[in-house]
Amino acid sequence: MSNKSFKLENINDIKRVFDSIDTFIFDCDGVIWRANNLIKGVKEALTLMKKNNKRTIFVTNNSTKTREEYFKKFSSFDLPIDINDIFSSAYSTAYYLRNVLDFPKDKRVYVLGTQGLIKEIEDVGVNAFGYEDNITEPFASEEDIFNEVKPDDSVGAVVVGFDMKVNYKKYSKAYTYITSNPDCHFLVTNSDITYPVQNFVLPEAGSVVAPLIAAVKNKEPVFLGKPTANMINCISQKFNLDLKRACMVGDRLDTDMVFGKNNNITTLLVLTGVTSEEALLNQDKIIPDYYIEGLNSFNQIQ
Ligand code: PLP
Ligand code: CA
Repeated sequence: MSNKSFKLENINDIKRVFDSIDTFIFDCDGVIWRANNLIKGVKEALTLMKKNNKRTIFVTNNSTKTREEYFKKFSSFDLPIDINDIFSSAYSTAYYLRNVLDFPKDKRVYVLGTQGLIKEIEDVGVNAFGYEDNITEPFASEEDIFNEVKPDDSVGAVVVGFDMKVNYKKYSKAYTYITSNPDCHFLVTNSDITYPVQNFVLPEAGSVVAPLIAAVKNKEPVFLGKPTANMINCISQKFNLDLKRACMVGDRLDTDMVFGKNNNITTLLVLTGVTSEEALLNQDKIIPDYYIEGLNSFNQIQ
């Protein structure tokens, strides 16, 4: 394996790689859009792919929205996609509860996360709760915590996702459910420590869960988003993919490129997101097979 990523810039190289791939798996933020702005040339590139019978799949580690909400976002940009092509870490978590754990009907899931995450879980027929703890005073009194926090064997899993309203009461409940019941699963939507906001970054689910990981001594968490195999299992279950002819396209080395590498999928880094060319070339830990300015570069092909 080469210790240097190959830059796709001339049309023959771009075409050669394009022809060798049947399925493009796209990360979303930094590849398709940046926050609420569509990245230049993306619509044309996706249209070109459709025209050439490529399958396109979209995978985001952002657990805050339902797939329905993502579909609306894609539609607002007039992008040619199907709702079934969208995978998020929230959906991968719901999928895991339903299909891997066969989560019992009489158990409940305590969620540190958004209503979108709760909805994805409930849509697969699993009882989820916890959002009401957002509504209480963020700095609940000790008494309030002592009265409400107790072991509860009806809680069969705790799920932690990105949560801007996380508070001590929620940590206390999650900790108590996980540690008091040996059968209670400890799940985390995604391991991202930070996520990009304009010119800086803020803590993401990997940071939200950090205090719980520090406190819980009897269990390791299970992560569900990129780069884990749980995410590719969720995708492969829906589509019969030939991973040898698939390509993972993303902007982040530690999630997207590791995701491709761990699953033996060709990796393509785009420079439209969080990783600069300089940052890519100044490290030797994660070497994508290829890198490219952005999806716009594919539009030279037609
Ligand atoms: N988490 C949050 C809360 C985000 O806002 C974002 C990007 O905007 C991400 C994670 C990363 O998402 P992706 O996997 O699509 O890059
Ligand atoms: Ca990204």
